[in-house]
Amino acid sequence: MFDLTGQKALVVGIANDQSIAYGCARALRAQGADLAITYLNAKAEPYVRPLAEALGAEIILPLDVADLDQTDALFGAIDARWGRLDTLLHSVAFSRKEDLHGRVVDCSADGFAQAMDISVHSFLRLIRKAEPLMPDGGTCMTVSFMGAQKVVDNYGVMGPVKAALEATTRYAAAELGPKGISVHALSPGPLKTRAASGIAEFDSLLSDAAERAPTHQLATIDDVGAYAAFLASRAAFNVTGGVHQIDGGYSIIG
Ligand code: NAD
Repeated sequence: MFDLTGQKALVVGIANDQSIAYGCARALRAQGADLAITYLNAKAEPYVRPLAEALGAEIILPLDVADLDQTDALFGAIDARWGRLDTLLHSVAFSRKEDLHGRVVDCSADGFAQAMDISVHSFLRLIRKAEPLMPDGGTCMTVSFMGAQKVVDNYGVMGPVKAALEATTRYAAAELGPKGISVHALSPGPLKTRAASGIAEFDSLLSDAAERAPTHQLATIDDVGAYAAFLASRAAFNVTGGVHQIDGGYSIIG
């Protein structure tokens, strides 16, 4: 029921071995999935390619989600090699530093639009390309944060961005459910990654989570990966549209 042998999974968002997407790729592979893995650009490739090769990835290609030609090339390669896709994992977010560090009220229009485009609309673009490759159903996942639902200090414009991502997940789930395609948002507690290093005073968020989460444990990328593998499996076929907190219960504490 949890076996992913022979399943085809695309993982977008690995920067290094701390990345949430890497934890997910490792778990999907451990359950038997064949992987397609992308890297952002030539600068990222030396960090990502060895990880992808170690996981036996069958497709390793560049993808800047703002680049529609690269997106087409990636899905063309997936179609040519596999002719189908079972799982899409989108683990990508971006905001310009000045927009992230300022007040949400002061966020520039173009910075807001760019953060929304890279972090939210790109999920829709990938889903749209994946849909024809999932004629018998599939699983699409993105990665959110509790700052979508509550005000988290220093999370800034990413709060509204993640709120939009979670609403997008629900609408996409409703639209694709009849085709057997489920759409989920994974919502891990704070984790020390490269993206997180852009958030001011992130260490105090980590220590707060470790102290106040009911389990007193920070989420790990393996925790997120295990959950992603479950959602990708047959066992989760009737689960869709949700925001799944993987945070030791941190988000239930007021
Ligand atoms: P990370 O830095 O390892 O991953 C972020 C990824 O986004 C990188 O691989 C980067 O290359 C990619 N990216 C940025 N712009 C891109 C673009 N234009 N095209 C393609 N890829 C692009 O950090 P992470 O923490 O693993 O972040 C992954 C996701 O998890 C993000 O959506 C983040 O908001 C979310 N998240 C992180 C935490 C945390 O505490 N670290 C908690 C909850 C949710």
